[in-house]
Amino acid sequence: MAHVLFEKLVSLCKRRGFVFQSSEIYGGVGGVYDYGPLGVELKRHIREAWWTAMVQLRDDIEGLDAAILMHPRVWEASGHVEGFHDPLVDCRRCKARFRADKLLEEFAERLQKKNKTGQAEALLEQLHQKDAPLGALILHYEVPCPTCGARDWTDVRQFNLMFRTYLGPVEDSASLIYLRPETAQGIYVNFHNVKDSTRQKIPFGIAQVGKAFRNEIVARQFIFRMREFEQMEMQFFVRPGTDEEWFRYWLQERYRWHLGLGIRPERLRLHEHGPDELAHYAKAAVDIQYHFPIGWQEVEGIHNRTDFDLSRHERYSGKNLKYFDPETQEAYIPYVIETSAGLDRTFLMVLADAYDEELVEGEQRVVLRLHPKLAPIKVAVFPLVNRDGMPERAERIYRALKAHFRTFYDDKGAIGRRYRRMDEVGTPWAVTIDAQTLQDGTVTVRDRDSMRQERVSEERLIEYLRACLERWEPQRVGG
Ligand code: ATP
Repeated sequence: MAHVLFEKLVSLCKRRGFVFQSSEIYGGVGGVYDYGPLGVELKRHIREAWWTAMVQLRDDIEGLDAAILMHPRVWEASGHVEGFHDPLVDCRRCKARFRADKLLEEFAERLQKKNKTGQAEALLEQLHQKDAPLGALILHYEVPCPTCGARDWTDVRQFNLMFRTYLGPVEDSASLIYLRPETAQGIYVNFHNVKDSTRQKIPFGIAQVGKAFRNEIVARQFIFRMREFEQMEMQFFVRPGTDEEWFRYWLQERYRWHLGLGIRPERLRLHEHGPDELAHYAKAAVDIQYHFPIGWQEVEGIHNRTDFDLSRHERYSGKNLKYFDPETQEAYIPYVIETSAGLDRTFLMVLADAYDEELVEGEQRVVLRLHPKLAPIKVAVFPLVNRDGMPERAERIYRALKAHFRTFYDDKGAIGRRYRRMDEVGTPWAVTIDAQTLQDGTVTVRDRDSMRQERVSEERLIEYLRACLERWEPQRVGG
C-alpha cells in the first residue's frame, strides 16, 4: 500500500514536471535526477524558507557559498579519506550489489514480519555493535539474495563514497581531488574569514546551501538516496560547556521549522542515536525523521560535533583556528552544533505529506495540499469560456497578478478539468472570469482545499490573495 503511494508520487513528478531522471533518453544515470519546471519552483521555495529562518531572521547567523572543490587535505583532516566507507557485498549469481548493513537490516525486518521476533532482535543487536562482523552475520543467518534468492555472496569490502577527479591536466596522485561529500567543511575552513569580516562573536553560526556528492552503493528510492544532492547546513560555534544547551535549542528550532512547512506532526519524530550509532566526530546526534511511504527515515540530523573538525583542521593546516574571547581574554577552539538537512529529501517529504486523494461527485480528485508559500504556482486564471470578452478580461487580470505571484493562465478544456490540473500540482487558488465579471467586475476565487468559491472584486484581488497567503492554515481533510 505504502509503496503504491510512492509510485504515484514518482509518476506525478514525471508527468507534471517536478522531477525527471537524469539523461533519460540515454537510459538514465542511477541516483541522479533533474528538477523540472514545477520542481525547480518547489525546491527554490523550500530553500528560501530555510534561508529566511536560518539567515534572514537571525542576527547570529551569516551565509556562505563555498566551492564544491576543496583542497584534498580537507578530507584527510575531516576523516573522510580514512573513514567515509560503506560495506559492499555482491551476489555471485545475479551480480546484484548491496550495502551489507542494509541487507541485514532488511533481512531482520523480514524475520520480524514472519513473527521470528527473537531471531530478528538478536540479529539487530549484533548488527548495531561497533565493527559488527557483517560478512559473518550474512553467512550465519543464511541471508538470501533479495533479487534471486541465492546464498552465494562475495566477501564484504569497504567502499569509499567520495567521488574523485583531477585538478588540472595531469591525472596523477598529486592532482587528485574530491567532490565534497558534505557542505560542512567549507564552513569550517572559512570560520575565521567569516568571523573577521562580519565581527560576529561566539555564539554564532554559518549557513550554506549547496551540492554534495556521494557515490552511494545502491541509490534507490527515487530522490531519497541520490548520488548528487543538495544540503542545507548550518554550523553553530559555541563555547565548550554550553554545547549541550545549544544542542537542545537547535533540535527544537529545527523541529519547529518542519512543522512550519505544514508537515503533519504525527508523521514527524525524533530519533536519538545510541553510542554505537554515533559518527566518528559526534558527541550526540538526533535525527528528525519523517514517516515516508517507505517507512520512518531521516530528513535532517542535528549533531554535536564538539571541537573535532576545527581541531583537526588546526592540526592539518598548521593554522591557529582558536577563537579569542575579547571579554574573558581566553582562547579556545569552539564546539560546533550542526543542523544538516537534505533539500531533496525535504522536497520528497513535502510532496508525500501533501499528497491526497478524495472522491468528489463520484470522481477521484488528486490534490497536493502544499503550504501556499511552497506551492510552485500560487494562482491560476481561467476565462470560463473563450468568448464574449472573457479571455481579454482574464488576460488583463493575469498580467496584473503576474507581477505579484507566480500565476498560470489556462483557457483550454472544461473548467472542472482545469481546476483538477491545478489541484494536482498544489495551486492554492484559481480565479475564474465569467459573465458576471463583465457586468460587475467581480471574479470567483476557488480555494484548492475546501473547493469553495468566493466572489471578489477585481480591484481587491491582489490584496485578497495576499491575505489568504498570510492566514493559511493546514486543513486536515481526507486524512
Ligand atoms: P543516511 O544514513 O540516510 O545515509 P547520513 O546519516 O549519511 O544519511 P548525513 O551525513 O547526516 O546523512 O547528511 C545530512 C542530510 O543530508 C541527511 O539527513 C539527508 O537529508 C541528506 N542526505 C544524505 N545523504 C543523502 C543522499 N544520498 N541523497 C539525498 N539526501 C541525502
